This record gives sequence, structure tokens and C-alpha cells, in this order.
Amino acid sequence: MAKQHSRQCSFCGRPESEVDLLLTGIDGFICDECAERAHEIIKETAQSIQSKNKFYIPQEQLPRPKEIKEFLDQYIIGQDDAKRYLSVSVYNHYKRLMQHKTDDDVEIEKSNIIMVGPTGTGKTLLAKTIARLLKVPFTIVDATVLTEAGYVGEDIESLLTRLLQVADYNVEEAERGIVFIDEIDKIARKGDNPSITRDVSGEGVQQGLLKLLEGSIVNVPPQGGRKHPDQKMIPVNTKDILFICGGAFDGIEKKIAQRLNTQVVGYTTSQLNKKIDRNNLLKYISPQDLKSFGLIPEIIGRLPILTYLQPLDRATLRNILTEPKNSIIKQYVKMFEMDNVKLTFDEAVLEYIVDKAIEFKLGARGLRSITEDIMIDDMFEIPSSGKRKLHVTLDYAKRRLEKPEFQHLKEV
Ligand code: ADP
Repeated sequence: MAKQHSRQCSFCGRPESEVDLLLTGIDGFICDECAERAHEIIKETAQSIQSKNKFYIPQEQLPRPKEIKEFLDQYIIGQDDAKRYLSVSVYNHYKRLMQHKTDDDVEIEKSNIIMVGPTGTGKTLLAKTIARLLKVPFTIVDATVLTEAGYVGEDIESLLTRLLQVADYNVEEAERGIVFIDEIDKIARKGDNPSITRDVSGEGVQQGLLKLLEGSIVNVPPQGGRKHPDQKMIPVNTKDILFICGGAFDGIEKKIAQRLNTQVVGYTTSQLNKKIDRNNLLKYISPQDLKSFGLIPEIIGRLPILTYLQPLDRATLRNILTEPKNSIIKQYVKMFEMDNVKLTFDEAVLEYIVDKAIEFKLGARGLRSITEDIMIDDMFEIPSSGKRKLHVTLDYAKRRLEKPEFQHLKEV
């Protein structure tokens, strides 16, 4: 008769008597500790595969420009031109990333974008929204931190630190990412003539930025800030990083008007000038105007896609309040809903909020602060009041905003 073996874990070899639990398989056993260890290993492996693929979209699932725009439409009102340019450019960015897999001689060049438009018209929102759709690392940085580079500002390379962080320091992923540089107009050269005097906030910084835009290997400080000698740098190749720049370029309409040989105010006689929509000169913006504003030609050359955002008119502001997927009003309704309170507004209140935003010259940004001021007392009281409904009337909204403590809004 065959010798009866004692049952033992086929992985660690411990006998049944030494373990809490021994599971039986067809041809062996596993103890509770080895089963737990195996589970850990499987979990870790799955996570690492997932993080490797975090920024990967298979070609067939690549959103087409129209789909990208449709996605943007859900969150951003109007700004059709900017949306189209952005959609195409992001789509082409993906294609560029994929071209490395084909080996013919045609190389698709990078098409960095510059968006010009008054503040609060949706530039950052566009960039942020596109980030939700993309599966590449994305970050927003502010060019104003660079304005004093060489003095107390940050080194240009630190713009890429955030991107590295978003990519969990995976350099390969960061090198396919997108960086939104806000307030690019703040590094414009002051004055039109290239001055021989040292221009701290202008040309030097632009030269530095150029290096990033055109694609080169730069040493990025892993923790940002200024470089110091004993910090270990991470080399990052910017060849495939897409840069989207945004800026208000205050006063650029005058440059456009000059170029168009017309005046912002006043009469013109020529046929051409009659056709010009002088209320929206930005739509005629050309690279030349950026140059007159103080960007160096090399930078302009590296930002081949130039688009603009329209100032927001009353109807657009009214739409912004309620229409986007996460509109301001929808957000308040949701917040109250979480306390089981049904929040409703008189239509007149919404019109009033828009009127005040216009009156205080706060644009879209003002919609939120005005709504916040109207709602603040209720947000404080209602959660502990046991109420199930709240209807905001025009009278109430007016009384709220006319309180002396909210007059601060007017001064912004
Ligand atoms: P910019 O970057 O152009 O200065 P933002 O994108 O930061 O402006 O806009 C500020 C806020 O105003 C946004 O968070 C959003 O709530 C609102 N907003 C501005 N423009 C739009 C728009 N076109 N559609 C929807 N909301 C907008």
C-alpha cells in the first residue's frame, strides 16, 4: 500500500499542522499565507500594467476632431473657432505620437497653439476640459512665475516639473504630454523696439521658452523652483510635448486695427473696412499682431496655430449660468440636493445675476462670486434647518447683494 503523505502547502512546504488553513487543489495544496501573498502579487502586477497604460488610447478609439469638439461643447459655451482649432490640433498631436510606429520619411511637425482672448472667456476652461478627455499627461502652468527669471523667478525648465509629477515621473509619458502655458502675454517685450537695455521680463524669458517649444532635451528639476548645483536633474525631451499657450493680450485690438488700417472708433470709407466687424477685431488676429505686441518672431514661429476667444456677451453669460454640464447653477442645485433640499430660482434671479456680472465688469468669473454671495446665508442655515425646499426670489437676491458687505464685488 502506498505511503500516506501528510498534507502540506505546495508553495512554502509547511505541513497542515503549522498553518491556519490549507486549501486543496486538484494536484496540491496552498496555505492561507501563500494564498494571501499570491493575491498581493496579482494586485501589484495589475496596477503596474494599468499605470503603464494610463495614457494610452488605441488608434480605433482615438477621438476625432468632431468628437473632441462635441465634448468641449458640453462644458463650454460658444468659442467655436477656438474649439475647432484646439480639436484639430490635439487630434494631430495624437497622430504625431503614432507616427513613430510607421517608418516612412514624412514627419508630422508639432503644432503648438496660441489662444488670444480677454480674461474670463474660457481659455483655461478649454484647456482643462480637453484634459479630461485626453489620455496624455496634462498640466497648466503660469508664465508669470517666469517673469523674473534670473532674479527671483523660476527657471524655465521648472514648467515641466508639474508635467513630470502628473506622469508619476515616468519620463517617457511626460514626453508625450500637453502643457498649457497661461498668461503668455506677460512675457512679451515691453515696447515695440528691441531694446538694448536688459529686459528682465521679456526677451530673455522668451528665448528660454523657445528652447522648450522647438523641442530639445532640457534638464528638469524634479521638485521645481530654481536649479541648484546638487539637485539631480531629469532630462526631458520636449520634441513631442504639445504646448498650448493662452493670454489676454490687453490692447492688442489696437494693433490689429492699425494693421487693418482702420480705427476702433470712428468712420472708415473703404469697402474693405466696411466689412470689418469692429466689435470683434480679435477674429482678424494674425502673427504680425503678436509681434507688434512684443512676442519675438521665433516664438511666434513655434506657435503656428493662432486662434482667438470672443468676449462674452449677455446672452452667452446667461447660458454659461445654466447650460454647461457642470454649470454654476447645476452645481448649487447638486450641493443642496446632497442635503435633501430642492433648490429652485426665479428666472428673474438668473437675469439679475447676469446683469450684476456685467455691471461689476466681472464677466463669467463674476457669475460664481455673485451667486455665492446670494446663497451664502442659505448654505449656512439650510443644512440644519430640516427644510426640504428652497426657492430663491428676485427680492431676496436683491436684498442679499445690496447688503453693504457685498459691495466689495463692485470694486474688483
Ligand atoms: P480665462 O482662462 O480665459 O481667463 P477661464 O477659462 O478661467 O478664463 O474662465 C473663468 C470661468 O468663467 C470658468 O471657470 C467658467 O466657469 C467661466 N467661463 C468662461 N468662459 C466660459 C465659456 N465660454 N463657457 C462656459 N463657462 C465659461
